[in-house]
Amino acid sequence: MTPPTASGDIQFDAWAADFQPKALAAGIRPEVLSREMAGLAPDPRVASLDGRQPEFSRPISDYLRGVVTADRATIGQRRRQDMTELGPIEQTYGVPREILIGIWALESGFGAIQGDLDVIRSLATLAAEGRRRAWAEGELIATLKLIQTGEFPRQRLRGSWAGAMGQTQFIPSTFTSTAVDGDGDGKRDIWTSRGDALASAANLLAKAGWKPGQSWAREVTVPTDFDFSLTEGPRETPVQWTARGVKRADGLPWTTADEAASAQLVAPAGAAGPLFLLFPNHFAIRQYNNSLSYALGVGMLADRFSGMGPLVRPWPQEAALSLVDRMTAQRALAALGFSPGTPDGVVGMNTRTALRAWQKARGLTADGYLSPDMVQRLRTEASVS
Ligand code: CA
Repeated sequence: MTPPTASGDIQFDAWAADFQPKALAAGIRPEVLSREMAGLAPDPRVASLDGRQPEFSRPISDYLRGVVTADRATIGQRRRQDMTELGPIEQTYGVPREILIGIWALESGFGAIQGDLDVIRSLATLAAEGRRRAWAEGELIATLKLIQTGEFPRQRLRGSWAGAMGQTQFIPSTFTSTAVDGDGDGKRDIWTSRGDALASAANLLAKAGWKPGQSWAREVTVPTDFDFSLTEGPRETPVQWTARGVKRADGLPWTTADEAASAQLVAPAGAAGPLFLLFPNHFAIRQYNNSLSYALGVGMLADRFSGMGPLVRPWPQEAALSLVDRMTAQRALAALGFSPGTPDGVVGMNTRTALRAWQKARGLTADGYLSPDMVQRLRTEASVS
């Protein structure tokens, strides 16, 4: 079989030749494969966007200030009232319209910013580049199947540099498994139909276990002597948290629906910042994008759309930590016998757990929050630079 591409890019053409039998084995017909791969060349825009590694971490408060804006709140409040599509979607899937509009706002600016790159070309570029080859090849095969079944021609399959498509920014495999025809015209058109897009988002959340009637999270307060090593820890009911002195920040009682749920306490900006009990619906939002900041952004926007005010405790001023600072802290924790995982500069669960254990052992507030002060203390104690 002749190589399906001759782009002149040796790495890309070698990948394409290697990919061809995999696609055939996955059920792509030879004529579809050769037609869609013909003349394909890597997209330099995709390669450069995929390679970005920011030197400084962006503090969560900066991100959320950029997400939860007055402009977005105004647009969302208007959409919430104007869109007749939303009532039937809420009834079918049990997901409140404010959450769906929050996702829509973050994924595509209420449908306005969808990305206009050829999804086949973007995914082929990512697959050839190799860092996420298995993922990209799977998504590429899912895209080829959408073309092969005739559901959409290739020119309709436009998306972001990472292959996320339409108003919901679904990757092709998510489109295949989860997109639905919300407006009843027989097509799952998440590009041009708001009804299809929002019903598809609701379907994703319903499949992720959305619990109708429960909150996504609540801002809470804790007593002054609270043990912050419980953050990102046990999932307990609001009654159990109340016994530890945790209360709703707005002073209201827990609803019956929330009382039945298990919730996790988090301090995203440390003990000095706002605290939240995260309900199962928060983790359903994270099926969309497994990021605490993202799910907080969606939920806080949704609260604004429903007319809730700002947080009771505002976000503190946070410092951006450099990659060197983050890796130094990780190497120090390792040197001191607390296992932070690979010192890669990514402050994930392992690093925060190790930091909490070290903070607790040193009599510090064990919130697992890496501040410049913590970096300095770790650097000094472990004598690492
Ligand atoms: Ca439709």
